[in-house]
Amino acid sequence: MSTSSHTLEIRDLHASVDGHEILCGVDLEVRSGEVHALMGPNGSGKSTLSHSIMGRPDYTITSGSVRLDGEELLGLPTWERAAKGLFLAMQYPVEVDGVRVSDVLESALHARGERADDLGRRLHVEAERLAVAGEFLDRGVNVEFSGGEKKRAETLQLAVLRPRFAILDEIDSGLDVDALRDVARRIEAMTAEDHLGVLAITHYARLLTELRPDRVHVLMGGRIVASGGPELADTLEEAGYDGLARELGVESLAVAAVEAPVDPFADPGF
Ligand code: ADP
Ligand code: MG
Repeated sequence: MSTSSHTLEIRDLHASVDGHEILCGVDLEVRSGEVHALMGPNGSGKSTLSHSIMGRPDYTITSGSVRLDGEELLGLPTWERAAKGLFLAMQYPVEVDGVRVSDVLESALHARGERADDLGRRLHVEAERLAVAGEFLDRGVNVEFSGGEKKRAETLQLAVLRPRFAILDEIDSGLDVDALRDVARRIEAMTAEDHLGVLAITHYARLLTELRPDRVHVLMGGRIVASGGPELADTLEEAGYDGLARELGVESLAVAAVEAPVDPFADPGF
C-alpha cells in the first residue's frame, strides 16, 4: 500500500462479549515494519483483541481507543478499517462457497480505491511463492481446504493486498514445518520490503525464528502482563504461562479477570 511510516495504537481497550468483560485495558502500539508477537493462554482474550481491532459486531467495546495514524477506528465498519489498511487473518478462516479468492481481493482493492487490472498476475506470483496450487484459486474461498491450506491462502491474500498492518491470529496453527517456514518468511519479507506492521498471535516460539519479533507481549486475564524482547518467547516456552504468572504474581487464567455475570434472578439478600 505504501512504504511510509504508520502507527496502530491501542489504548486502554475494554471489550465484552455477552456481557462478560474479556479485555480489561489493553495498551499496544505497533509501527510500520515492526513485528509484535502476542502470546497468552487459551481464553485470555487474544482472538477477542483481534476481532475488536477489526470491528466484529458481536464484541462490544466499552472504552478505550484503536487509532491508525491518530484517527479513531472504533465505530467504523470492518470494511472501512480494511480499506484504511488493516488486515486480519482469522484463527478460524471462514469458508465462502461460490466466491473465489480473486473475487474477494478484487472487492478489497476496489474498496481501497485501487484498480485490480494486475490482480491475476499478482495472485499467480504469490501462489507460486507460497506453494498454493492453482486449483485453490478456482475454488470457493477456503472451501474444502485443510487447516494448513487455509493458512497459506490467508497469507496469499495478505501478500496480494499489502495492507499497512496485519493481525495474524494463530497463522501457524495447522501448518507443517515447510508451510510454517514459507508463510513466516513471506510475512517477514513484507515487513522489510513493504514496511508491513505485524501483530502475530501465536503459541509457539517456532514461528518467531523466521518472523522475528521486535517485541513480545503476554496477555493474561484480558491484560498485557509482560512485554519484552524476543527472549520472552523462549522464557515462556520453558516456564509456561503458569510459571510466568507465578513469577509476576498474577492469575494465569482468563476467568480471573472476568467478573461473574450479574444474575437477575439471584437472591438479592434482603
Ligand atoms: P484466546 O484467543 O486467547 O484463546 P478468546 O479471545 O477467543 O481467547 O476468548 C476469551 C474469552 O472470551 C473466552 O472465555 C471465550 O469463551 C470468550 N468469548 C470469546 N468470543 C466469544 C463469543 N463470540 N461469544 C461468547 N464468548 C466468547
Ligand atoms: Mg484465539
